[in-house]
Amino acid sequence: MRVLVFGGTHGNECTGVTVVTQYAEALKKKFPKLDLHFIFANPEAHQLGKRFKDEDLNRAFQFLHEDRAQSYEHNRAKEIKKQIDEAPCFVIDLHTTTSNMGSTVIVTHYNPLNLDISAKLSTSLENCRVIGSPDPKRKYLGSQSDHGLMIEVGPVPNNLLEATCLKATLEILESILNHLSLHPLPSTGSIEIYEEVKDVYYPENEAGKITAYIHKDLQGQDFHPLKERFTAFESFKGESIDHDIQEELYPIFINEAAYYPQKLAFSLCRKVNRKY
Ligand SMILES: [Zn+2]
Repeated sequence: MRVLVFGGTHGNECTGVTVVTQYAEALKKKFPKLDLHFIFANPEAHQLGKRFKDEDLNRAFQFLHEDRAQSYEHNRAKEIKKQIDEAPCFVIDLHTTTSNMGSTVIVTHYNPLNLDISAKLSTSLENCRVIGSPDPKRKYLGSQSDHGLMIEVGPVPNNLLEATCLKATLEILESILNHLSLHPLPSTGSIEIYEEVKDVYYPENEAGKITAYIHKDLQGQDFHPLKERFTAFESFKGESIDHDIQEELYPIFINEAAYYPQKLAFSLCRKVNRKY
């Protein structure tokens, strides 16, 4: 099976960069049955120590039909898309997060192979959960092939290589490669999956400035169940700000550094069981 592993799609996420630049040869030797390719997705952004140079590469694929010749990431997305489309392949895109997400797998196309691998990862690896984030417009790099997964490991600060995060990323990657090596055809089963239902934004004033921060009781509580009313923020004036929900939901990407520009504080998921 042809497998494309991408790292450094976001230039300031060093873990993926390290995997594709330092571990490629060892992994090729370890999984000889696979036709493995390792691709450093956004080297210019990494050079700058930034998430991206001109636009977010992990959103650029939805604009491929537009004329954006000046954008480095637009041109990289074109090259990457061409590489993916050369022949059927499984795409793995390695990311990290500043949120306390542990080892997370994101599924964007619900097909038996993607769900089967995700189900096996979530039961065999410690602290590994699966997020469902359908991507019909194919904006993410990881969803350019029907078969593929995005990996998010955290918490780790941007531009930092940290042992726990690197080892957890290698553990998930090797588990996926092992599975593809041994079981290229999916079996049937069921999977516990966290499906995004709502984004929650920071409170802001009339000038559009953020007026609060994530409350200490919510900080780091990714994937911990929330019921009815919970304290989401503390304002800079010292007031607690509650948030109401109608059902049990699970927060993810709490206080992700990359989401401050859009003032996104966290997202809420519903936990469901899916058969495949
Ligand atoms: Zn990322």
